[in-house]
Amino acid sequence: MAEKILVVGGAGYIGSQVNKHLNRNGFETVVFDNLSTGFRRLACYGDFFEGDLKNHEDLEKCFEKYKIAAVMDFAAFASVGESVKDPARYYRNNVVNTINLLDAMREYGIKKLIFSSTCATYGEVPPELLRETQPQNPVNPYGRTKLIMEMAMKDYSSAYGLKFAALRYFNAAGADPECEVGELHNPETHLIPLVLDAASGRRPCISVFGNDYNTPDGTCIRDYIHTEDLAQAHRLALQHLLSGGDNVIFNLGNGQGYSVLDIIKAAEKVTGIKIPVEMAGRRAGDPDFLVGSSELIKNKLGWNPQYARLEKIIEHAWAWHRKNYSGA
Ligand code: UDP
Repeated sequence: MAEKILVVGGAGYIGSQVNKHLNRNGFETVVFDNLSTGFRRLACYGDFFEGDLKNHEDLEKCFEKYKIAAVMDFAAFASVGESVKDPARYYRNNVVNTINLLDAMREYGIKKLIFSSTCATYGEVPPELLRETQPQNPVNPYGRTKLIMEMAMKDYSSAYGLKFAALRYFNAAGADPECEVGELHNPETHLIPLVLDAASGRRPCISVFGNDYNTPDGTCIRDYIHTEDLAQAHRLALQHLLSGGDNVIFNLGNGQGYSVLDIIKAAEKVTGIKIPVEMAGRRAGDPDFLVGSSELIKNKLGWNPQYARLEKIIEHAWAWHRKNYSGA
């Protein structure tokens, strides 16, 4: 039996895109997902194993059934605001359950892990392109859970020989260019799908969380990256580890910052719809500015994003939105 890649959380937004990309590029995969927030229909490539990282037996059964060459982990919670309100949920899932995964990998001698980290590990930073060497001082529980796991992976690497790639995503956005997989969060908390909800009338308006930040228009600036470009980066990181490469840590962004108001304007252009906006208070845990340089992964692994244009990202998100919610 060919060795497979285990895609933990492969029924979710980013995991389903990466799972598809891997299958399209000659890898065999098994999706491991508890379907608590994911959807079986999004795990539409490779094998599927329903299991929960909190149950050691589920991991054992999966590792007994399949010969796994490497693991990718997408099974984390990733909403900044929710992590401030309910940190226990974040520490339990993003730290405790991920340690369960690392320990089961140790038990079965699986030594390669591609880990979804985040720019939220940086915290409040100067308004310049962030590099991977930027000191990490996260300002919300979500970022802290991911930083803890980066530290744990380094320790597991020194002590047990784990090899890992930590990919620090900026703001994952867009949808499958073929419109087969995409974002179906419930409740949705991320900006672009909420803006599109306001465009289609699924929500009455988009609330702008704070317009008194230290940015030119007062709203927060972020760096949006297409999920298919994230998928390509995961494949390259996987190939790097499979060919014996050492631990790597890479930013994944487009190096271009857009404010919340820029996103709304771009969505109006793509959809041709005037989007109702209301100004609201700040959301706890939001830094003013997070924009990353991804020169390192471009230089080291030849990452070559295909969908860096914001309009393209929103166009794909809009096609996905209409496919799922037409008639809304
Ligand atoms: N945001 C907003 N209104 C919303 C949702 C998000 O103004 O309904 C803002 C949020 O405060 C942040 C930016 O949009 O400044 C991106 O937020 P998102 O939750 O999409 O991603 P994050 O940067 O938190 O990972």
